[in-house]
Amino acid sequence: MIQLHDLKFEPFISEDRITKAIVEISERLNRDYKDKTPVFLGVLNGAFMVASEIIKRFKGDCEVVFAKLDSYEGTVSTGEVKTLLGLNMPLEGRHVIVVEDIVDTGNTLCALDEILKNKLVADYKVVTLFFKPEAYLQKYPLEYVGMEIPNDFIVGYGLDYNGLGRNLSQIYKLKKENMTNLVLFGPPGAGKGTQAS
Ligand code: 5GP
Ligand code: MG
Ligand code: MG
Repeated sequence: MIQLHDLKFEPFISEDRITKAIVEISERLNRDYKDKTPVFLGVLNGAFMVASEIIKRFKGDCEVVFAKLDSYEGTVSTGEVKTLLGLNMPLEGRHVIVVEDIVDTGNTLCALDEILKNKLVADYKVVTLFFKPEAYLQKYPLEYVGMEIPNDFIVGYGLDYNGLGRNLSQIYKLKKENMTNLVLFGPPGAGKGTQAS
């Protein structure tokens, strides 16, 4: 058991299990992107660790770029607007591999989809270490999923709770005994409508 800020977390997914998922995805990427010189696009902050593990196993030529999605309440009536900070390189005609730590509602992907289409990429595919099918609200296909997980709040391997926990080499999940607080105060720094990091 570990404590981050005010909340307790329990061990959930081992480093070995994570590495196995990463190796499987990497083998597929090596087959699918042989001779394509893809651009890996790591979505900060959460994907820094999985991106490094995936990219170092890629055997062909590739480029690497990181970017951060900034979300805020926009002036448009539909509410949230997301812009991609730090993505200056031209991507026209390129094969992009988006690397995510976790896909939850899919709202981040929705924003990315529009941005990448506007940049006229040849195509893009999504690598995500974790996927919460029960929370997913979008239709975008997720080609490379490491693991499907239940709708629990997790930390570790790049994922944080209010800034802490990113350095943990295995995944922890929120202990159920915290749940009464969550009902009262809402999820702790979870992605819903907050900055995707
Ligand atoms: P989305 O809902 O747009 O698919 O996910 C947005 C972001 O929410 C993710 O990139 C991640 O930063 C955060 N997120 C979603 N689920 C979790 C979770 O279980 N734990 C943590 N730490 N962050 C999460
Ligand atoms: Mg992310
Ligand atoms: Mg976060």
